[in-house]
Amino acid sequence: MTTKPVPRYDVIIIGAGVAGIYQIKRLTDLGIEATVLDAGGDLGGTWYNNRYPGARFDSESYTYGYSFSKELLNEWHWKEQFSSQSENLRYLNYVAEKFDLRKYMQFNCQVEAAHFDEANDLWQLKIDDGRKLTCRFVIMALGLLSTPTLPRYEGMDAFKGCSFHTFHWPHEPVEMAGKKVAVIGTGATGIQVIAEIADKVGELTVFQRRPNWSAPLNNSPISNKEMADIRSRYDEIFATCARTPGGFEHEPDRRGFYAVSRQERVELWDRLYDEPGFGIWLQNFREIFTDEEPNAELSEYIAERIRQRVNDPMTAEKLIPRDHGFGVQRVPLESYYFEAYNRDNVHLVDISETPIEQVTESGLRTSERDYDFDIIVYATGFDAVTGAFDGIDIRGIGGKRLRDKWNDGPSTFLGMFVHGFPNLLMPAGPQSGSASTNYPRGIEIGVNWCTDFLEYMWEHGYVRADATLEAEERWTTHVTKMYSKMLMRKAKGWFTGYNSNVDGHEHGKTRYFVYNGGTPKYVATINEVAEKGYEGVVLRSDSSVTSEFPVASVDGVDGVRVSK
Ligand code: NAP
Repeated sequence: MTTKPVPRYDVIIIGAGVAGIYQIKRLTDLGIEATVLDAGGDLGGTWYNNRYPGARFDSESYTYGYSFSKELLNEWHWKEQFSSQSENLRYLNYVAEKFDLRKYMQFNCQVEAAHFDEANDLWQLKIDDGRKLTCRFVIMALGLLSTPTLPRYEGMDAFKGCSFHTFHWPHEPVEMAGKKVAVIGTGATGIQVIAEIADKVGELTVFQRRPNWSAPLNNSPISNKEMADIRSRYDEIFATCARTPGGFEHEPDRRGFYAVSRQERVELWDRLYDEPGFGIWLQNFREIFTDEEPNAELSEYIAERIRQRVNDPMTAEKLIPRDHGFGVQRVPLESYYFEAYNRDNVHLVDISETPIEQVTESGLRTSERDYDFDIIVYATGFDAVTGAFDGIDIRGIGGKRLRDKWNDGPSTFLGMFVHGFPNLLMPAGPQSGSASTNYPRGIEIGVNWCTDFLEYMWEHGYVRADATLEAEERWTTHVTKMYSKMLMRKAKGWFTGYNSNVDGHEHGKTRYFVYNGGTPKYVATINEVAEKGYEGVVLRSDSSVTSEFPVASVDGVDGVRVSK
């Protein structure tokens, strides 16, 4: 028998966030030799990094938690309907401790490169600490919003005060009392941080380029009694999430927009606006996503609610978006965001009128004047979905770079495979079901599917899996076509790959990042593929590989154990 290297690990998972934690749980339950690598100092992904004031779920907490363990569901008490960052991080740590997962994780490990070794059907990973690790399968659990992006202003390094992107909010407390603070950006992050710090800082100046539609979160505590009720209904709650398009408890209003009177529409909106969570977005008429007229009527309704909440009419008008309708970009939910502008210490600068020209030693210079600040907060968003992939030198068959393949936007099969990059799996990848839905619900679906797929590979002695080009093209065309039905296709948001701070991602070129068919359709499709023996994926066995589940010892070079 020929000698072939056996990889150090059967599976390496990159990313110790919500997806990576569940993925390692599934694999180690199967006794698989696997590890998780994360660039961060500890587990938690989004919830480890985004420590800015006001960071919290806008998914109902009890629909965000993992559903895989009844024991966990019975033990954990969500304290708020929409839980805060620190509590969410505590939860993920609790899960990791409970299932003893931390021992499989390695932190401060930036994966610099992942190259597919075609001769041996394995991946070679290069870590920034100099190590090289090999694995049969690599699972990308990189997060959709994990590559923060900064503006490209002149003089950013010259600022003598404190400045940071919200993703890198310092772990130690930031003293804000009495300070002059600037926030640049009014996406979901900016809206949360502005509302939270408005009454805690000296002066707060918000630099807004485009306003975002947003609606109240209507958060509240969850009592012991309410939590007991939630626990008794978990099966029902997850069943509802599984049948709704967004993976939430919110179900679209099935009455047609045009089938009901204006009065009935307003009654629905009055109710939804004052209810907790995404109801105003996801329990609305389905036409608001696809038809200009219903969308315009709803947008005007929301604009009126904003006018009622902001005392100064000129400020109110500046906070109302004109370039897109309600819900065609990801809707941030807020807690007293609009009321923040009624405070004397909060100022709104419309930088679409007076652009920021440069960062100075003491603050910011717009085309109109100079501003002095102690702290500048960049709430300027992320190189979404593909940014984290682009950050790793990923090379597949023939040394082809994933970054080059995806230059104009991602192409995938089911959001899980990329043709030409065998044995690379993405449980929550671009064009998968999780990107546009309640994230952990989508993650569990993706992780379970990928794990079943790997079990199938191992059971059948396969060592290599590659989606066909035809399958990939079919899926990507399907994802692309679905955008054509949605008003969202015109929006300047991360769902269409817009980011003014990343070359090539400026407005004008749509990137088809998310699957818009909803959870039930996505699940039906991926299950059908599995039932047909993973149709669309070429599976190959290799009789020269002697060990399916390699042991942990490393006696070859660069972490490769050579089978005898
Ligand atoms: P974002 O939605 O992309 O917003 C970035 C903001 O920064 C926009 O207002 C943008 O203005 C502005 N901006 C960017 N570059 C700028 C520049 N050079 N000069 C001036 N302004 C600039 O990013 P995000 O707020 O971080 O949210 C991203 C996503 O994260 C959300 O959509 C959501 O999916 C997720 N998120 C979730 C939660 C939650 O669960 N509660 C909270 C926060 C974030 P333009 O629009 O003009 O480009």
